[in-house]
Amino acid sequence: MKAVCWHGANDVRVETVPDPKILNPRDAIIKITSTAICGSDLHIYDGYIPTMQKGDILGHEFMGEVVELGSAVKNVKVGDRVVVPFTISCGSCFFCNRDLWSLCDNSNPNAWLVEKQMGHSPAGLFGYSHLFGGYAGGQAEYARVPFADVGLFKIPDGLTDEQVLFLTDIFPTGYMAAENCNIKPGDIVAIWGCGPVGQFAIRSAYMLGAERVIAIDRIPERLQMAKEDGKAEVLNYEEVDVGEALKEMTGGRGPDACIDAVGMEAHGTDFMAFYDQAKQAIRLETDRPTALRQVIVSCRKGGHVSIPGVYGGFIDKVPMGAAMNKGLTFKMGQTHVHKYLKPLLEHIQNGEIDPSFVITHRLPLEQAPHGYQIFKDKKDHCIKVVLQPSS
Ligand SMILES: [Zn+2]
Ligand SMILES: [Zn+2]
Repeated sequence: MKAVCWHGANDVRVETVPDPKILNPRDAIIKITSTAICGSDLHIYDGYIPTMQKGDILGHEFMGEVVELGSAVKNVKVGDRVVVPFTISCGSCFFCNRDLWSLCDNSNPNAWLVEKQMGHSPAGLFGYSHLFGGYAGGQAEYARVPFADVGLFKIPDGLTDEQVLFLTDIFPTGYMAAENCNIKPGDIVAIWGCGPVGQFAIRSAYMLGAERVIAIDRIPERLQMAKEDGKAEVLNYEEVDVGEALKEMTGGRGPDACIDAVGMEAHGTDFMAFYDQAKQAIRLETDRPTALRQVIVSCRKGGHVSIPGVYGGFIDKVPMGAAMNKGLTFKMGQTHVHKYLKPLLEHIQNGEIDPSFVITHRLPLEQAPHGYQIFKDKKDHCIKVVLQPSS
């Protein structure tokens, strides 16, 4: 089959690789009909995620048709159309039982690698390095889905791939980010980053009752999408002092909740942004918390900080004094996708949201290298790339 394989920083290739096989009774093989490139794939593309190996298949946002099932999978049939959550969960451990699906204890065979750094291992992830299980991803013609009896989510007839594909990650991720803000009527939510997750966080914040959403970025078309489709007030951080602007827009109090939908490769215009870039370049800091610092300093006293942006390792000069003395509540984590599939599908079916709004590029799988490049460089007004295998 054809698959998008990682070969090093800024080097992905579409290659012919062996078809996946059923390895365990709870596996399924999916013939992929749509798959997407995610902002978190760019952290791999840029070479910031350790334990990648040449030839690893990328991709964790994919859906398709069931073509083969292990003997223990009874809840779906061959021929069913399914989406696949990016987090792999067993469905029966301590964490899965508590709806903490992205923290599953049984899905990362390389848990020992992560435990050294993090103390405990989160769930395995598709196409996201050997640290998170070394699972082949879904930017391919076929993929093996472990714990398929728990992970596969059947899509009812009448919905297109583009309407449901983002249930795999970015819609639940934006939604959980907003949910983590503990939104009360009248609240003002500020969101750093108007990439795909930021866009879904904007819409989710309104769905959960926010009165105003303020979105922050520097890319004109992303700000425009946030403003026109998302109904957010927008700030371009290259044009205004974000902290001052937010104070002004909130009567001096600050937003009730702040979302960091940027993560480890943040940009900025202040001295600290250059400090982060320099330190990350010489590997003295793994992640650039440029947005996170602003989030903490801007948030109102007693407010909520929500972090869907991916961090991988260690960050520097986080204003912990501000966080502590302002009494902030922090919530973060990889998304518990399984928990959100049904309720968010209902929002789509009710017509409250059509997630396909975020797609700017549709490319054949063969053009994945081009897709990665324009997405990374934000060329050609690229916000979200969907890849379609041709077979
Ligand atoms: Zn993703
Ligand atoms: Zn589990």
